[in-house]
Amino acid sequence: MQYRKDRCGRELSILGYGCMRFTRKGGAIDLDKAERELMAAFRAGVNYYDTAYLYPGSESALGEIVERNGIRKQIAIATKLPHYMAGSRAAIDRIFDEELRRLRTDYIDYYLMHMLTDFAQWERLKSFGILEWIEEKKRSGAIRNIGFSYHGGADQFLKILDDYDWDFCQIQYNYLDEHTQAGVTGLKAAAAKGIPVIIMEPLRGGKLVGLLPEEARRAIAASPRGWTAAQWGLRWLYDQPEVTVVLSGMNSLEMVEENVKTASDARAGELTMEDHELIERVRRSIREKEKVPCTGCRYCMPCPKGVDIPGAFYGYNAMYAESKTSGRKQYAQAVALTREPCFATQCVGCGRCEQHCPQGIPIREKLKEADRALRPLPWRIGIAAARAFLLRGTKADKE
Ligand code: SF4
Ligand code: SF4
Repeated sequence: MQYRKDRCGRELSILGYGCMRFTRKGGAIDLDKAERELMAAFRAGVNYYDTAYLYPGSESALGEIVERNGIRKQIAIATKLPHYMAGSRAAIDRIFDEELRRLRTDYIDYYLMHMLTDFAQWERLKSFGILEWIEEKKRSGAIRNIGFSYHGGADQFLKILDDYDWDFCQIQYNYLDEHTQAGVTGLKAAAAKGIPVIIMEPLRGGKLVGLLPEEARRAIAASPRGWTAAQWGLRWLYDQPEVTVVLSGMNSLEMVEENVKTASDARAGELTMEDHELIERVRRSIREKEKVPCTGCRYCMPCPKGVDIPGAFYGYNAMYAESKTSGRKQYAQAVALTREPCFATQCVGCGRCEQHCPQGIPIREKLKEADRALRPLPWRIGIAAARAFLLRGTKADKE
């Protein structure tokens, strides 16, 4: 196993254990199986374990496995505050205390504001005293490092990053998402400030392995490197020294073994020009299935009406490259569940964006098409209900 350092010099294994995807049996986590897999990773040197209040049963399962095996002091636990469920400081305390109980510990090594998607959410947390709360928890030793996980666009990521002295952050990043969400811009900006970056969705939830088009599979199989699709995805990340830990939701011993091997062998800067060309071919073959040739470069942004143009095209493409539900979910997450919605229907047709698009995309026309596909009536109703629930206590937003 290889290690990269956090801000205090603590060595973190470059492979982190994502505890979101433990195998379930009869609705509950299969604890014995999870224990076998988790302890295999531990014995191989994995020392970073990521969970969240909202992953059903995950904190409790991790707490039980860690206690049973007496490994608390040898590992770092990361868990998260579901900020949208916390409308007051008392609520934050309640959630945090419950997390400590579930995890059977009295401190959290890495604590994250879960799933921020825009700066307004961070501002809202500050309005009811999160800064003082963090200070108090750090002073008492109940929290060792504070960070945030992020799913919005790069501009808002940079604002949040610059607004506080974070110990670390967590972003969705993989070779297909190089220019979406925080992307490479966010990664480099965080690294430039000396902030460790934890990577989630390194294989897009397994899609860069299981759902690769035939042409991409053939290109990978023909490469003299002999790497599997998963190894290509992880090695692309480890190639970048700005990446600190890559989380993988491992739920089989084979997966643990393969990922541990990659994390032991991979080296920053090892990918050659030929390797990058292969990844580009794989990307291209994935994108050929796409409806809009948007690369997520964001040259078209910001839109004066707040439309998240790359976010809409990303979701639209995901409907065809992955599945309709997956694309619609990603769209809802990126543009609907932010405090200020950024739906494609907010477009007034000024055309400014089209002057900047290097791909020559007829953005106005494609936005209409995308929104129709991404938000059929049942999804509109569901999104409105989710917004009402998540944003209760903030100003009532209207589409
Ligand atoms: S055409 Fe629409 S999406 Fe493009 S900048 Fe104008 S309002 Fe925004
Ligand atoms: S400029 Fe074009 S390719 Fe780039 S994000 Fe905007 S729509 Fe996509």
